[in-house]
Amino acid sequence: MVGIDARAGLASRQNGQSGYLTIDLGALVRNYDQLSSVVAPAKAAAVVKADAYGLGARQVANALYERGCRDFFVAQLPEALILREFIADDADLYVLNGLQPGDEITCAEANIIPVINSLPQWHQWSRAASSAKRRLPAVLQFDTGMSRLGLPPCEQVQLAGLIVASDVEVRFIMSHLACADELDSVQNADQLLEMRRLADAFLGLDVSFANSGGAFLGRSYHGALTRPGIALYGGAPSAGTKNPMEPVVSLDVAVVQTRIVPSGTKVGYGGAFVTPREMRLATIGAGYADGLPRSLSDRGAVFYDGVRLPIVGRVSMDSITVDISGLPATAIGHGTLVEVLGPNQSLEDLARDAGTISYEILTGLGSRYHRQYR
Ligand SMILES: *Cc1c(COP(=O)(O)O)cnc(C)c1O
Repeated sequence: MVGIDARAGLASRQNGQSGYLTIDLGALVRNYDQLSSVVAPAKAAAVVKADAYGLGARQVANALYERGCRDFFVAQLPEALILREFIADDADLYVLNGLQPGDEITCAEANIIPVINSLPQWHQWSRAASSAKRRLPAVLQFDTGMSRLGLPPCEQVQLAGLIVASDVEVRFIMSHLACADELDSVQNADQLLEMRRLADAFLGLDVSFANSGGAFLGRSYHGALTRPGIALYGGAPSAGTKNPMEPVVSLDVAVVQTRIVPSGTKVGYGGAFVTPREMRLATIGAGYADGLPRSLSDRGAVFYDGVRLPIVGRVSMDSITVDISGLPATAIGHGTLVEVLGPNQSLEDLARDAGTISYEILTGLGSRYHRQYR
């Protein structure tokens, strides 16, 4: 842990934060390379919505652009407008949720490509193209079985007619898998069947279908452009198998106080945990406001020097108390960093203990950490 302590010493003197979030852009790029080779000859885009799952859209998008990625998906127009400011013009930016009514001109002027999810969205974009007197690009999303976003496939014939008569240049058609992380889900096969039917109906248009999980479902799911998100950031693309991705995020949090308490001592809000014996405790400086879910109360752990330090009592807004009785008496003190995410505890481990998924952990990581990009 010498390396981490040395880093903490430096960082705390500079910034005063008690949590250190390290984002390994090298690992991110290697994950992109791995995904690119898994889906080749299809291309891999990068899904950078929600500030690149909390890791920093600017740093992530720039690193992946350098590596050759030219397609970036966000969920909402404002995210794309921010990205447009710092990414080169030859990168294509897509808005998955499509546009809110009235945002068409802003979108067109910023050279951003909306995903069209409904006939009203189509008509609005088509009218914007007519009044701009130029062809405007768009992506058509169909709902192949998730009932979330996208045109119902029954509107396919009507759309085919509308495309011909419009100034909208459809770049490709897309859909999204509901169960892509389940390798043997019947729903994947059902959605694929529907997607194939649509691809035949729009012969000549490329297809985008697979997210991270879909990339690992085999070639038939790849289409021309895949849309991985979580796998880029080190999350597991498929459930129940070894995660093939490299971790991108590590999180170390400083101890702010230690104490020894006798047996029968109440710990934390509500006195919900009572020590069953004398215990040594450490309070670390991050809590649910920093994205460590309150559902970790009395569950899960942090690590020091490979030793598991169980969380005791309730997670507070700004701190968590852990049992350090398993460590030598002087191992940990004020300012020592413990591992929340790192070699001993993966994103998936923490998510499982919190009763959630890696996506929610990543996007919840708060703004109070000292962030360092490697
Ligand atoms: C979020 C999202 C993705 C990325 O999904 P991951 O599971 O993170 O790879 C791809 N496509 C759509 C439509 C999405 O909403």
